[in-house]
Amino acid sequence: MSIAVLMLAASTSVVAAAGRGALGGESQRTEVLFLGTAGGPPLRLDRSEPSTLLIVDGRPYLIDCGIGTMRRMLRAGVKSEQVRTIFFTHLHADHDLGLADVMANDFFRQSVAGRAQPVNIYGPPQTKELVDAAFHFITVGFRPFENLLLPANGSYRSPFVTHEFDRDGVIFQDDKIRVTAAENSHYALMPPQRRRQFKSFSYRVETPHGVIVFTGDTGPSQAVERLARGADVLVAEANNGDPQDVEKVTASMAAHSHWSSKQAQAFRAHFEVEHLDTHEIGHLAANARVKAVLLYHYVPENKADQAAYVRGVRTSFSGPVFAPDDLDRYCLGGGGLSRCP
Ligand SMILES: [Zn+2]
Ligand SMILES: [Zn+2]
Repeated sequence: MSIAVLMLAASTSVVAAAGRGALGGESQRTEVLFLGTAGGPPLRLDRSEPSTLLIVDGRPYLIDCGIGTMRRMLRAGVKSEQVRTIFFTHLHADHDLGLADVMANDFFRQSVAGRAQPVNIYGPPQTKELVDAAFHFITVGFRPFENLLLPANGSYRSPFVTHEFDRDGVIFQDDKIRVTAAENSHYALMPPQRRRQFKSFSYRVETPHGVIVFTGDTGPSQAVERLARGADVLVAEANNGDPQDVEKVTASMAAHSHWSSKQAQAFRAHFEVEHLDTHEIGHLAANARVKAVLLYHYVPENKADQAAYVRGVRTSFSGPVFAPDDLDRYCLGGGGLSRCP
């Protein structure tokens, strides 16, 4: 990075701000924009790690932040510095390692513009540790430009404000949305004493145009079913296209890594108890009487067979089911859920 680049970036941000908003500006609707649809941690060529933008009347909220989030936002024409609220469902690496990229871009843009506006980050215990560590990490690279980027008081101030929570209930509300969290079963197999430290949540988001429930990562869960009751849209992790996938993947991993039968059993149990296959999503959607389902977080194929994922859900759910790719947008309005025009 050079001073010339800094100046160029400063001037282009002014030009962009004067142009049409990348989010479609004032559109009166709720939109779900999939930035990343692959489950991790192995990185995929054709899909980014889990990250979703919820855009309500033009205001963006980011849910999870896997590797590749920043690049997908650029591709979607969304400026990360316009995202002032970020939610983490849980802190597995595939859901949070892209945060530093987003923070670096925000910090740089804000520093160049000479104003610090808070970015609020909501998540389970250890979110503050994650955010503070990421801020420390990104400022190392900005130190050589202290004379340009530092405020008058001579020290970098973090604009990132963390809000941790560890129990169910309303965790956020503004004039557009209300977010209710419920702990799910993604860490069900963890010893009880560790579950005080590690928590995984699903979110119910009420918007002016309807209710959207994000499962995050979870296994079958009564709490998630209650949270999803009557929702217009269920955004569900689809960790397996078919229950038999677990058997195939376990066998191949066990052979490759020379696992004992106990290790293989623990791996299989993780998928069966702590993730959802498509049949379980169908049951969840039917029992909760949601109106439509959006799938993501595909595992394990590099390029998911989307038709198979949809078929699995349809075995017990008769409403619309979609299996998006990265950068697909879905709009919620008077006519229900559909691809955005
Ligand atoms: Zn995950
Ligand atoms: Zn996870």
